[in-house]
Amino acid sequence: MPRASSVDRVAIVGLGLIGSSIARAIGERLPEVAVVGHDASAEVRKVANELGLCDTIADDPVAAVANADLVILAVPVGRMADAAVAIAPGLKPEAIISDVGSSKAGVAEALAKALPDHAVIPAHPVAGTENSGPAAGFSTLFEGRWCIVTPGAGASEDAVTAVTSFWQALGAKVETMDAAHHDMVLAVTSHLPHLIAYTIVGTASELEEVTESEVIKYSAGGFRDFTRIAASDPVMWRDVFLANKGAVLATLQRFNEDLTVLQQAIRRGDADKLEDWFTRTRAIRRSIIEQGQDDAAPDFGRKH
Ligand code: NAP
Repeated sequence: MPRASSVDRVAIVGLGLIGSSIARAIGERLPEVAVVGHDASAEVRKVANELGLCDTIADDPVAAVANADLVILAVPVGRMADAAVAIAPGLKPEAIISDVGSSKAGVAEALAKALPDHAVIPAHPVAGTENSGPAAGFSTLFEGRWCIVTPGAGASEDAVTAVTSFWQALGAKVETMDAAHHDMVLAVTSHLPHLIAYTIVGTASELEEVTESEVIKYSAGGFRDFTRIAASDPVMWRDVFLANKGAVLATLQRFNEDLTVLQQAIRRGDADKLEDWFTRTRAIRRSIIEQGQDDAAPDFGRKH
């Protein structure tokens, strides 16, 4: 297993789903690495203590990062700047700062501004669930999943290597990408799907002709698969859409055009158009399974 050799002490700021999963994965895969955790919420710190997530839970962000070789900010995207400002006085000069934010360009800019004298290497593990909080995390969350690292121009190669090795040690596959390109890719693969799910679930619950109890009763027809995504953390997703506004709006424009094409095909009875489209999308699902990014079991492996 690759070892992040320069990293003996990690500080995790934000102990929700992602932060607590990182702590658990370090405990299992890098037991020799010391982990200090901090969260702004006293309740989260209490739960993290009870769960034994870290070697130490610090009440104070400055104390949390003292002597850390690598600091990972695992707070909502809109809180990254505040979190960076709060840890700044406690960082040792050679500490590497990274994050796990779901959008990258804005976060990279905010972190570089808050920590101008430190190596800032942003990253995004493309792994998660619809749950949040310290109890929702699990140690295998990153296994076989991609982590996208987005170093800025002039980033230290040693620091990029340390962050890359760290994520590989947690079981992730790492790809390096420009932050703006990351934001466009994720707008398509994650942010737009979440927006669509939030829309459909909201729309269905407000229809006049169909009651909410009917929507719930007959949800196995497809609706329930959208509800998993639409149950995702409201604060996290509010911040993602505000932070990745440009790429999301560009992708949404394209989606609206394609939706109009399908709308026309249905209205005109264009069977070929519909069949061609659905055949192409089915092939995409097959590719995802072939590349190990989902299970081949029908209906996501649900028991019937
Ligand atoms: P989460 O479960 O809600 O945890 C975030 C934690 O950070 C909360 O306990 C929150 O406390 C705390 N926090 C907020 N501001 C803070 C600050 N300034 N200092 C210290 N702690 C602070 O969220 P999550 O799902 O782990 O997401 C964390 C980050 O990972 C986000 O940037 C998100 O975009 C990214 N991400 C999420 C997923 C996913 O599927 N969930 C996947 C990949 C990446 P309060 O609740 O009291 O504010």
